[in-house]
Amino acid sequence: MDRLRNIPKLDLILKDDRFQALIQKYGEKLVKLCTREGLDSMRAAILAGGEGENINIDLDTICCFTKRCMDDKSRSSLVNVVNATGVVIHTNLGRSLLSEKAAEAASRVARNYVSLEFDMETGDRGHRDEAAASVIRELTGAEDAAVVNNNAAAVLLVLAALSKDKDAVVSRGELVEIGGSFRIPDVMELSGAKLKEVGTTNRTRLSDYEKAISDNTGLLLKVHTSNYRIVGFNEETAISDLAELSGRTGIPLYVDLGSGSLMDTRDFSDEHEETVQEALKSGAGIVSFSGDKLLGGPQAGIIAGRRDLVDKVRNHPLMRALRPDKMTLAALEATLKSWLHEGGDHIPVREMLVKDKAVIREECIRLCDRLLSMGFEAIVREVSSASGGGTLPTVDIPSYGVHVRAKEGSGLSADDLKTLLRLGEDPVIARVARDEVVLDLRTVREWEMEILESKFALIANGWWKYA
Ligand SMILES: *Cc1c(COP(=O)(O)O)cnc(C)c1O
Repeated sequence: MDRLRNIPKLDLILKDDRFQALIQKYGEKLVKLCTREGLDSMRAAILAGGEGENINIDLDTICCFTKRCMDDKSRSSLVNVVNATGVVIHTNLGRSLLSEKAAEAASRVARNYVSLEFDMETGDRGHRDEAAASVIRELTGAEDAAVVNNNAAAVLLVLAALSKDKDAVVSRGELVEIGGSFRIPDVMELSGAKLKEVGTTNRTRLSDYEKAISDNTGLLLKVHTSNYRIVGFNEETAISDLAELSGRTGIPLYVDLGSGSLMDTRDFSDEHEETVQEALKSGAGIVSFSGDKLLGGPQAGIIAGRRDLVDKVRNHPLMRALRPDKMTLAALEATLKSWLHEGGDHIPVREMLVKDKAVIREECIRLCDRLLSMGFEAIVREVSSASGGGTLPTVDIPSYGVHVRAKEGSGLSADDLKTLLRLGEDPVIARVARDEVVLDLRTVREWEMEILESKFALIANGWWKYA
């Protein structure tokens, strides 16, 4: 097309004052790259015809294309989303939200030199996880604790440190796969521990463990069946029974607790999940759990228990490969202190789990009215929220949700509506059930309600037709 010939040469464009100002601010390399890419998209838009026919070929317009390209390049690819799924610990959406205090702590240490491995009293070198460990000791009654990058790392490290080339005795009912290809048997193999499976899928008795013990037994292992439950004709061996066997034989007992709750899960459900404190009190020698499941902190793996066992773990060479950074440790310490001093108040995971369903219902009614006024079909119904993240798989948390359908005759199915909510700015993640989009407001914060409403307003106005 002839018009395209009017586009000035790159060198000339960059000499212009507007572009020189950009170069001053962002450097020549980025501005050059983005001007080139901006020109490409401008040419493409003009060639595409339609609205593109009217694009002015002048330096103002080119500058706009350049700036848009720079915006795209500098924007983080991790965009904020509104989680309207009602799944509190949503692994694909980043699991736990940090509390304000935890986020502030991480942000502060990120920008400063800090006393990470420095004992301020003596000026000597210290352990980087000492601060977090001291709060964990206070919270759980453990003699000592260590912190690694996540619980998968904790499992690997504990097995490597305590059961390398030795048998780790575990029930067949507990050979779990957590998702994302984390399988206990695979990790055990990597650690160098030898898997000694006992019992059957649904029943494992103390005598099964007892019979498996030999001179080469390194560890009694119990894995919390986080993301599934064996119900019906089943029997598992309690931690206290295994602890008694451990005491009698001198073989350490390690319990992988998975989510590792510090709170009583009866605060929001009928089911009681063994807490970290209880597991240790029942006699587990060492336990591990996640920082970003029911604890509601950053991604981390916490190892706690007997001093001699934690020492072995901490001094293992793999520790160096698995150690967390200062931001994680700062956020974790702040989260643990909220549990210690405030019973977990202001920790988003806990707040969302215990949120009163009557409050959620009020919020749903308000949103429902707004959606009706925009022309959507909407109704408030009872729904079940989930804690998610492989925690409490059989627990339904009673909640309310707004069930939405597009206007009759709009041609939009529930799946289309769900997709439109996800696309464009301010994505909203929702689910579809029985041909309706379901918005469970348990996981939506107050200030996100506005975002949710404007997203629906845009859809009502048909934005995707013009985008
Ligand atoms: C979630 C889980 C893990 C893995 O923990 P991450 O913190 O996700 O690495 C390991 N074991 C059990 C039993 C779990 O539930």
